[in-house]
Amino acid sequence: MKPAPFEYKRPQTVEEAVALLGDDGARARVLAGGQSLVAEMNYRRARPARIVDINAIAALEVIEADGESLRVGALVRHVQLERGATDGPLGRLLTRVSRHVAHPPIRNRGTMVGSLAYAHPAAEWGAVAVALGAELRLASVGGTRVVAAEDFFRGPFVTDCGPAEFVIEVRLPALGADMGVGFVELRRTHSSFAMVAAVAVLGIADGRVTDARIALANASSRPLRVETAEAVLVGACATSASFAAAAAAAAAQADPVSEPHASADYRRHAAEVLVLRALAAAAADVGAACA
Ligand SMILES: Cc1cc2nc3c(=O)[nH]c(=O)nc-3n(C[C@H](O)[C@H](O)[C@H](O)COP(=O)(O)OP(=O)(O)OC[C@H]3O[C@@H](n4cnc5c(N)ncnc54)[C@H](O)[C@@H]3O)c2cc1C
Repeated sequence: MKPAPFEYKRPQTVEEAVALLGDDGARARVLAGGQSLVAEMNYRRARPARIVDINAIAALEVIEADGESLRVGALVRHVQLERGATDGPLGRLLTRVSRHVAHPPIRNRGTMVGSLAYAHPAAEWGAVAVALGAELRLASVGGTRVVAAEDFFRGPFVTDCGPAEFVIEVRLPALGADMGVGFVELRRTHSSFAMVAAVAVLGIADGRVTDARIALANASSRPLRVETAEAVLVGACATSASFAAAAAAAAAQADPVSEPHASADYRRHAAEVLVLRALAAAAADVGAACA
């Protein structure tokens, strides 16, 4: 099918873009990589009256590390994160995760921020954003505001971003050089969305867990940070027993629904297995053997 008729605008600045989004009754949508929106429009699940194509706004191409965080502008493509956007554990995590996002042609055009804004519950970047405590900066005619990733996601395809604003960047906090990162995903085919995915970030000193951040994709209606699992780990010895206890806690906090390919019980079990593997991978990444 072809999309319903729409007006096409290609602003050169953020100010022009928010003015176009803010017009009363415009029913406008931002176009970033187009890898989800164009399909939605062709199926006529989305019928925007106006497309605001942000691809000519050079300021949104920013990708910059300042020691405290990595700024990822709204036009940074998945492939840029795959190729090593920054050093250290954060760079390793972004490279590993991006290889699981769709397949290369889609990664060449699709954007991290577009994925966050689309808020597909299975999207890998949502889980990364809540695990790291990322912040999103939104622009409107009134200025900008910052929203924590934890508060940004409201449910499947629903976010805190209103119709007259758009996300200009996400800030991912830097990780200490001694942190370990792990990412594991279960999917039916190489380019399928995740059935469930797990992100783990660990700090380990003298055999004890000093810091733990764990999140799941597609185990709830939105990216899920599993604080119960983190609480099990912090202060505990980094052993396979404590990792198993944390994984069980994560599965208990997960709230997956049944889908045609997998029951809720199966996906909850998958969440437990994947968290266990992500923790083992994070421990190995930081050089701590898991006894
Ligand atoms: C075959 C296929 C497989 C895929 N597999 C995966 C996968 O495994 N994992 C995964 O995470 N994704 C997957 N995707 C989706 C892909 O990652 C998209 O790139 C991503 O979801 C959307 O990014 P985009 O830049 O293409 O956004 P667009 O398609 O341009 O926009 C998507 C939505 O977000 C809104 N939007 C975009 N940017 C902004 C912004 N800056 N501010 C506010 N709203 C904005 C748009 O208005 C639209 O509603 C897949 C897509 C396809 C076609």
